[in-house]
Amino acid sequence: MAVLPITVLGSPVLRQVTTPVAEVTDELRQLAADMFDTMRAAEGVGLAAPQVGRTERMCVVEVGDVAAVLINPEIIAREGKIKWEEGCLSIPEVFGWVERSAVVKVRAIGLDGQPFELEGRELLAVCIQHELDHLDGKLFIDHLSFLNRRKAMNAWEDEKDKYPGLLRILKPGDSDEPKGRAVAASDAPEAHHDAL
Ligand code: ZN
Repeated sequence: MAVLPITVLGSPVLRQVTTPVAEVTDELRQLAADMFDTMRAAEGVGLAAPQVGRTERMCVVEVGDVAAVLINPEIIAREGKIKWEEGCLSIPEVFGWVERSAVVKVRAIGLDGQPFELEGRELLAVCIQHELDHLDGKLFIDHLSFLNRRKAMNAWEDEKDKYPGLLRILKPGDSDEPKGRAVAASDAPEAHHDAL
């Protein structure tokens, strides 16, 4: 198990368009496993390769009982609209309402090298679209209105100094702490945010 450092806003790799994966290698399978470890340690529901400083076109998602590695993913169908208050593991403590498709179907390559399709609705749909944006160097703040984006950037101003070198290092035990907080603050709106 390896929990990797997470790149935060300002890190150039987050703005880079990723490179399609040519072959599913053991090294890529290891990266996928480490990305799952990192996402779970950070209590996120999705994580894309640039968020761990990599440029492979790959992300992981885990919503409810659906956990998937998406290699070279593309959205092949969309339906409806949904507004969700999104966060991002690369922009901690910053949130904003984004409108996305309510249902999406994605086609991707799995760790076995075989293509598959996955349909997601609500949070899983939001998560898939958020992670695929990462693979094109896009962040959820890019979808915010001018005023909301300014609000988000002001919030980030207060946060960014916590991440020297533009890296978020998860310490052992981090995964337990937010759970406790979330229970204690279950009535607070923060408890409903989803970090992706
Ligand atoms: Zn994100």
